[in-house]
Amino acid sequence: MDLLRALIMCGIVGYVGHRPASDLLLDGLSRLEYRGYDSAGIAVVEDREIAVRKRRGRVAGLIELIESHPVEGSIGIGHTRWATHGDPSDVNSHPHLDESGRVVLVHNGVIENHDRLKARLSETGCGFRSSTDTEVVAQLIGWHLEQLIESGHAADDPETCWSALRATLDELEGTYGLGVLFRDCPGHLWAARCGSPLVIGVGDQEYFLASDTSPLIGYTRDVVYLDDHDTARLGRDGLEVRHRDAGTRDVAVQTIQDEAVDVELGEFPHYMLKEIYEQPDSIRSAMRGRMDGDDATAVFGGLNADAGELRRIDRIVLTACGTSWHAGLVGEYLIEEFARIPTEVEYASELRYRNAPLTDTTMVFAITQSGETADTLAAVRECRRKGHKTLAICNTVGSTIAREADGGIYLHAGPEIGVASTKAFTSQVTVLALLALYLGRMRHMSFRAGEAFLESLEAMPELVARTLECHDTVREVARRFADCGNFLYLGRQYNFPVALEGALKLKEISYIHAEGYPAAEMKHGPIALVDERTPSVFVTPRGGVYEKVVSNLEEIKARGGPVIAIAGPDDERIAGLVDEVIPVPDVPEFLQPLVTSIPLQLLAYEVALLRGCDVDRPRNLAKSVTVE
Ligand code: GLU
Repeated sequence: MDLLRALIMCGIVGYVGHRPASDLLLDGLSRLEYRGYDSAGIAVVEDREIAVRKRRGRVAGLIELIESHPVEGSIGIGHTRWATHGDPSDVNSHPHLDESGRVVLVHNGVIENHDRLKARLSETGCGFRSSTDTEVVAQLIGWHLEQLIESGHAADDPETCWSALRATLDELEGTYGLGVLFRDCPGHLWAARCGSPLVIGVGDQEYFLASDTSPLIGYTRDVVYLDDHDTARLGRDGLEVRHRDAGTRDVAVQTIQDEAVDVELGEFPHYMLKEIYEQPDSIRSAMRGRMDGDDATAVFGGLNADAGELRRIDRIVLTACGTSWHAGLVGEYLIEEFARIPTEVEYASELRYRNAPLTDTTMVFAITQSGETADTLAAVRECRRKGHKTLAICNTVGSTIAREADGGIYLHAGPEIGVASTKAFTSQVTVLALLALYLGRMRHMSFRAGEAFLESLEAMPELVARTLECHDTVREVARRFADCGNFLYLGRQYNFPVALEGALKLKEISYIHAEGYPAAEMKHGPIALVDERTPSVFVTPRGGVYEKVVSNLEEIKARGGPVIAIAGPDDERIAGLVDEVIPVPDVPEFLQPLVTSIPLQLLAYEVALLRGCDVDRPRNLAKSVTVE
């Protein structure tokens, strides 16, 4: 069984304590909704009655339903769904009950052998209501429970529930994070993990269950991470965790840091915009404590690799997906320029299946915002299995990749809620720049060059803040071009990955077809797309390839294509050539992605607004796109 073949990560919450569960569950679901928003539902158990409220659509709809049909009780579970099996309908929404009404559960993941299990249960007369794989789990627990009760076990004994759950899990193939309630054993909530993350929040005589720490913020900072094959019982009397093979295990309570706290929108209409505007601060956080002026280098706390080991590396593989992959491309340019170490950027989904020849002296870095991306996790596991030191560049503290990697560097960007990644990209680039400096200073990079590097980096938060002043101009540009059906994004060298990232942003949230290309490469094909309805966004600040990019730009203009340029301040030459200019401050070439990516994020945002798109919850996407 490949645990990673289909890791889905949507939102699970749970609560056991003394407060009204439904308020806490709804609050938690609202914070997790960015992970999936096909449907939302909760179940609460009280006086041996299970009450379920669920419906297709957003958490807001569920809140309305509960306002008109409230549920009482202080133990419950909740779910936001990103459908994999069965359409996003009311009946397929979680929580799912077994036929007898004794068991109710929520599930993240995919049960691969659901067909076989369903057929077997159907033969015993079991009637299914939904077309999900999840219902099979509820029915199977119900079936095992029934057997146990018939053979004399008490339905209200927690050991009976443990046994029914264990017997069920032993039959499942696939991935799951589960929250389970038993009608006849109230006072407890069970959780089980295999491939889908779950964290338990430890409060004062109360426990929380969640897919990540965001629903816990404001309630508790003390957490216990579940590992694969753990099951847990959260009760008013305490917490117990049992591992499939090792039995009851000690629970290590960890404290989450302040950086995870900012999950409110504040004055901003959307998370994406809030996160774009947070970038001066998030870049600053990525640098904090990592600039060593005395030795003109960078320092990293958690790399877990000594200088000798890093000195011996002669090849680096950066592996990632999506926006993180684009940051990796910037990293390739940075590491090769400053550390002179051959670097490759691999899609994690490709790396995991191809038999890449990694030598002893290859170091692998996995770049991931969430730390849960299935393909990246699989690539990490594959590289580690082969014995390669595998480090993570990751935002989410305590995430699976952060815990499984041999070491790594946190972004400290705070939670990124907007589905379209923005601040994580610039933080990744910042960390990769520091890494290039660190590796460079171990080799041939001089003290003076290291000092100049640090100085340039230090100025970036302020320069990024100034870049944000282009927002009004971007809004105007968006108005002019929002109804175009195709865009080209073009840049060279450090701004080639920025072009890719700009095109991805536009696709993701405004559903406009966009292609990113190295500016000179467009002659070899994409130029055929150019017409007066296809704007080309040129990323062309001053630098070594400026003249070259200007020539490419003129080639497009000569063919009647409108051009939007991201250019340096007061660049009269560009202004005279193009239709619209969005100015960004002058910065050293190797740090340009930190400023040139910002107007492209804003452009995608403004265009999406004008087209009436749901910026924070774009169709078909979820924050951590964790299906293979
Ligand atoms: N496979 C389940 C379903 O489609 C769970 C998906 C999820 O994790 O939300 O209902």
